[in-house]
Amino acid sequence: MAIATTYSMTLPPWLAAEVPALPESLERHEAQMALVNRLADRNWREGNGGPFAAIVVDHVTGRLVSVGVNVVLSTGVSSGHAEVMALALAQQALGTWDLGDGHDLALVVNWRPCVQCYGATLWSGVRHLVVAGDGPELERLTGFDEGPMVADWAQQFERRGIEVVQDVGRADALAVYAAYGESSSVVYNARGQGAIDAEAPDART
Ligand SMILES: [Zn+2]
Repeated sequence: MAIATTYSMTLPPWLAAEVPALPESLERHEAQMALVNRLADRNWREGNGGPFAAIVVDHVTGRLVSVGVNVVLSTGVSSGHAEVMALALAQQALGTWDLGDGHDLALVVNWRPCVQCYGATLWSGVRHLVVAGDGPELERLTGFDEGPMVADWAQQFERRGIEVVQDVGRADALAVYAAYGESSSVVYNARGQGAIDAEAPDART
């Protein structure tokens, strides 16, 4: 086994092919989340990874800056979550590690971030986070372990100047997770474990 010295992350071909046809801007959160939910649903059906998608948009104009989907299965990299992809691709496009430097950007994603993407979002410089929902439904419906999220995750974002908007397109997001859960798709938790906290919702409040 040779020691690797570089890695790269790539959107799946079906999404890269769709990028030129995506709307230039999506002004309302509902329209932004509708795109996210649609991409999330297609993503797992295409076999790229979990039923997750994210976009970065300009908070004022709705201009679409980047799109991301979960690519854990298609890349073989466990950190290839939708939020990480969308944030990194926005940073590539804008040429900066700080998405708050001269920009007013929102990350729109189809559930509260997992414990990894919680950190990735905090460090990205993004100023707004729009989620379809939070709570144990995602883990119950899909079997994914989202990790030990802090109960006051939303307040922690707000304390750092990141506005949180919740429950946008929630029913559609849950429908995607339900369809995924009823399929025979691979749930790629490390060591094959299910969602540790899903059976103990009281521990998450
Ligand atoms: Zn994540």
